[in-house]
Amino acid sequence: MSATPIQTEVLIIGAGPVGLFQVFQLGLHEISAHVIDAHTQIGGQCSALYPDKFIYDIPGIPRITAQQLVDQLHTQIAPFHTPIHLGECVRSLKVVANGFEVTTNTGTLYSARCVVIAAGVGAFVHKELPLAELKPIRNKQTQVFHTLPDAVELEDKEIVIYGANENAVNVAIKASNHPSSQGRVTLIYRRDKLDIDDSVQDQLDKTLKTGHLKFKVAQITSIQERKGVLTHLMLTDSQGEQTLINCDYLIESLGLSPKLGPLLEWELQMERKALIVSPETFSTSINGIYAVGDINTYPGKRKLLLSGFHEATLAANAVAAKLTGQVSTPLEYTSASTRIHKLLGVWRGV
Ligand SMILES: Cc1cc2nc3c(=O)[nH]c(=O)nc-3n(C[C@H](O)[C@H](O)[C@H](O)COP(=O)(O)OP(=O)(O)OC[C@H]3O[C@@H](n4cnc5c(N)ncnc54)[C@H](O)[C@@H]3O)c2cc1C
Repeated sequence: MSATPIQTEVLIIGAGPVGLFQVFQLGLHEISAHVIDAHTQIGGQCSALYPDKFIYDIPGIPRITAQQLVDQLHTQIAPFHTPIHLGECVRSLKVVANGFEVTTNTGTLYSARCVVIAAGVGAFVHKELPLAELKPIRNKQTQVFHTLPDAVELEDKEIVIYGANENAVNVAIKASNHPSSQGRVTLIYRRDKLDIDDSVQDQLDKTLKTGHLKFKVAQITSIQERKGVLTHLMLTDSQGEQTLINCDYLIESLGLSPKLGPLLEWELQMERKALIVSPETFSTSINGIYAVGDINTYPGKRKLLLSGFHEATLAANAVAAKLTGQVSTPLEYTSASTRIHKLLGVWRGV
């Protein structure tokens, strides 16, 4: 665990669209924040599940792709220089004298006066093959990955990619283009129809024709290892026929799945895996902890971006009131407030 905690006024758990907008709303109140997300990219469901789909119900924006919306939200918070810690999953939360202490899987300790949970449908974690014997090898992080790291030595190595998504195919094509691994790369999936669009399928077909990449329809049903080093994979096809293949690197590209995990154990009042909040302040059952976006519930709750943005606005107001000891904070328009224009770096006055 880090010796000195990272201090912040507010810790936001989740860098999804609502967590990002929470940064903006707190920033308008001149409240500093740090953001933590388990995933290695910002954007929550928008970036992880439907980046290229158009969204049609953002006010004033007739249509925008989910990724473009995330990019715009990211640009919008740039003036506040808020640190975003990616690849860190929040594990524990402790109530302390002047706020909260939060730890993450990397052992980092955060100390915050308030916490805003914007955890959506849960932490996005990579799905893994259901093979218990693979776990100790996976934990070493030297042979089993979700994508092929640039640093690994490819000379004379057998590379296997399991998955049907665009990442799986792109990794397979990229690896097979490398001069030292041509002919040693195999893409495997349990069925021959992959979840990719036509242009990626064309690229895959062209690469398969070169012979630099092989494609097999099968499941990985067991592994062989020697002294903790992965050496072979056992493949079983739909007829039950088994083949043993060499493997030095295994890329598991099975997509992401959300896990609520530790939030369920924090003694916050919940209803059907959602945090119960006040619809005025978005405070949870613990004073100083707020919840916004898909993670919360209250009468009439709709899991929509628009609702999450509204919630972040009111939560910021409530956090500001709590930190300053005021009942409420004055309403200021972003179009008219000199203070806000200065904060956003758009002040053109004298
Ligand atoms: C296919 C699809 C289409 C959609 N289309 C629309 C639409 O057209 N219009 C609309 O309004 N809404 C739409 N939605 C819903 C919208 O995407 C969600 O309402 C929105 O993403 C919720 O944002 P959020 O920030 O609350 O949560 P999320 O987007 O789920 O983000 C939560 C973030 O918190 C992180 N996190 C969770 N737990 C932890 C933890 N313990 N530690 C660290 N990080 C953690 C996660 O990794 C994630 O990045 C759609 C959803 C889907 C799946």
